[in-house]
Amino acid sequence: MWLQQVVLRGVQVAGRRGVCSTVSNGKLPLHFNYINGERVSPLNPDPNQVMKVLEPATGELLIELQASGPDEVNRAVQCAKEAYSEWSQLTGLQRARIMQRAAQIIKDRQEEFAYWETRDTGKPIYEARMDIWTAIDAIEYFSGLAPSIAGQHVPLANGSFAYTKREPLGVCAGIGAWNYPIQMAGWKSAPALACGNTFVFKPSQFTPITAVMLGEVYTEAGLPHGCYNVVQGAGDTGTLLCEHPDIAKVSFTGSVPTGSKVMAAAAGGIKTVTLELGGKSPLIVFADANLDNAVGGAMLGNFLSQGEVCSNATRVFVENSVMDQFLQRLVERTGRMKIGDPMDDDTRVGAMIHQDQADKVMTYLDGAKKEGAVVACGGELVTPDDPRLKGSYISPCVLTNCHDDMTVVQEEVFGPVVSILGFDTEEEVIQRANNTEYGLAGGVFTNDLTRAHRVIAQMQAGTCYINNFNIIDVAVPFGGFKKSGLGRENGLVTLEYYTQVKTVYVEMGDVDAPF
Ligand code: NDP
Repeated sequence: MWLQQVVLRGVQVAGRRGVCSTVSNGKLPLHFNYINGERVSPLNPDPNQVMKVLEPATGELLIELQASGPDEVNRAVQCAKEAYSEWSQLTGLQRARIMQRAAQIIKDRQEEFAYWETRDTGKPIYEARMDIWTAIDAIEYFSGLAPSIAGQHVPLANGSFAYTKREPLGVCAGIGAWNYPIQMAGWKSAPALACGNTFVFKPSQFTPITAVMLGEVYTEAGLPHGCYNVVQGAGDTGTLLCEHPDIAKVSFTGSVPTGSKVMAAAAGGIKTVTLELGGKSPLIVFADANLDNAVGGAMLGNFLSQGEVCSNATRVFVENSVMDQFLQRLVERTGRMKIGDPMDDDTRVGAMIHQDQADKVMTYLDGAKKEGAVVACGGELVTPDDPRLKGSYISPCVLTNCHDDMTVVQEEVFGPVVSILGFDTEEEVIQRANNTEYGLAGGVFTNDLTRAHRVIAQMQAGTCYINNFNIIDVAVPFGGFKKSGLGRENGLVTLEYYTQVKTVYVEMGDVDAPF
């Protein structure tokens, strides 16, 4: 694997890790916006707006990019606007055929996608492979729905009638976080395109690569130029997109504070927004649960992608009568997780996205200990044996002796840290589980069917699980209650967020005017 040659659209990158020569010549960042069906050099490059993208696993420079300013964002939006007149007029079936070709191309190139996703994010490659499939799933699923997007016929008095149409919105913008880059590009672009919109995406400045690869795939599949565009940049570029008068809708994934800014920026133009924001989700384990499954659920709910997952069950409530057995199994299985090179197939904990995020997590852990939490395992900075791996690695951490008002129990840590909290009664735990401003996900492990549904019915969360956690399927809506967001991604309901309803009254008789 170390000597494997990786080909990124025709340009070979020698070795397992090296500077991505397709996107940087070591001087000025070039050709990594994707506009009008090709990589382009940004307009008006500004040496003060160069973003250095570091590889999480090694801490070394991966690529340098130019942040996109107003002219560049406008160029992308105008291309998308021009492309809209053609794309929106195709039938759903015509759009579907192109999208299905794109899905097939990604399948053919999935290892290449997974490779770059891992280098970009630091997550283990086995997870990156799954993430690539979530993007494929979205493209296939929404392409399958495209021909069925239709309105209603409403009979009215005297043979008159009305009908409704579901029309696209226009140019939609997507803004993504760094933890699931290809998934976000796929989850946002697929429904947008299937519904007849065109699309401009801004990935996180930390993970710019696979969104551009997706653009190349769409073009190869026959997507008309300008339908899918990528502008690289940081928050300012995101703001330019939100405020652009020709953007009809913004689909955002990120933190609550930024989501609030996106909503405010979009409000000026009365644009619709979809917001997928943060979380502090509860998982409740009752004494009658299958404890091995519950432990597995708690680990899925906390340790994927180094814990950098919005829906994570960072508050695991365990009925006190089984606390000791649960903890023993959780600590034992957590301790077995292999930490290290994300490119290794058996690695289960890769590198944190960057040093700042690792520092943030360690600060939360220090604070938790000061507030009385006990580290049952992990929570340490780990130095892998391989000297090239100079990124930040944190061993997955189980915190016990937690109580509800600790900072680590209340705030989103976004790292591999789970807080274990004991409880005695169902009423008590539901109240405590809901005692948060977030409402992204929630779960319960129990073998009592009635209790499972009773608890979930009271849970204030948009995405709930009974006897599992953090599984996703493109056919099932995903999104949050309370400050965790607005709108949904995935599932049939998403079509509503990328279309608008046009109502048409048809008079079959004479006009009955009172004047
Ligand atoms: P941020 O909110 O910091 O950033 C998200 C995106 O918004 C990035 O592309 C960022 O650019 C951009 N951005 C920053 N400021 C603005 C602005 N003023 N206007 C428009 N766009 C802006 O989140 P992170 O990237 O740090 O991701 C972590 C957060 O995302 C966590 O809170 C997590 O819970 C949440 N998240 C939610 C998910 C969900 O589905 N609910 C899924 C995944 C993550 P840049 O980073 O380039 O500066």
